[in-house]
Amino acid sequence: MAWRCSGRNNAELISNLFNVGLITSPRVRDAMISVDRAHYCPSSPLAAYEDSPQPIGFSATISAPHMHAAACESLLPYMPENKGAKVLDIGSGSGYLTHVLANLVCGGDGTGSGHVVGIDHIQGLVDMSRENMRRSEEGRRLLDTGKVELIVGDGRKGYAPGGPYDAIHVGAAASEMHQTLIDQLNSPGRMFIPVEDSDGWGSQWIWVVDKDKDGKVTKKKDMGVRYVPLTDAPK
Ligand code: SAH
Repeated sequence: MAWRCSGRNNAELISNLFNVGLITSPRVRDAMISVDRAHYCPSSPLAAYEDSPQPIGFSATISAPHMHAAACESLLPYMPENKGAKVLDIGSGSGYLTHVLANLVCGGDGTGSGHVVGIDHIQGLVDMSRENMRRSEEGRRLLDTGKVELIVGDGRKGYAPGGPYDAIHVGAAASEMHQTLIDQLNSPGRMFIPVEDSDGWGSQWIWVVDKDKDGKVTKKKDMGVRYVPLTDAPK
């Protein structure tokens, strides 16, 4: 399916994903059309419009667009536009998804109320993600107004000062379901997190963790995936 969705430009790539049903929400489609993926794949601009992961340096990759779309669609009910929603993007890497999430909660021109924190444990990637975001007017506005914060830290601990979060996205596979992250979810709130299975085969599953308005937590095992692990920072 992936190669069939590739496009000659960003709008074509995202429209193809929408046309085959890998994106079903017009809100997600519009947000992904307005964030140019090539701004976030500076070393491989020609490959930016393929529906596949791409290297971004520091042994990291920008995830495939259909995975970013799946994460946005899962979190969407918790990310109303211009309602002050708080979102945490763990393993923010290139900054692409952080920008799409901010577009969803702050609106297409980045002027609505909402706050998105992107956290990565590699300083070089955080610097690069800020440069990437500054390539568009909306990205510069989101950074300059503080609606998007890109910070260095261990994402396994979350980022308590920015919470509690209506939506948490984890972009690397956790070795366990981190309770600290569940604690930082709002009531109600949702987390989208890949977790390594204990089956010994190295399989990973997306878990969707919901906290309802009374604080009751439910965990649902969703699709099988392949993410890089959430690790200690390189020395
Ligand atoms: N979602 C991003 C990057 C995905 S790659 C994108 O699409 O561009 C996974 C990212 O997780 C890498 O950038 C890696 O540096 C980061 N990462 C791995 N372990 C981490 C940890 N403990 N804390 C924060 N970030 C981590």
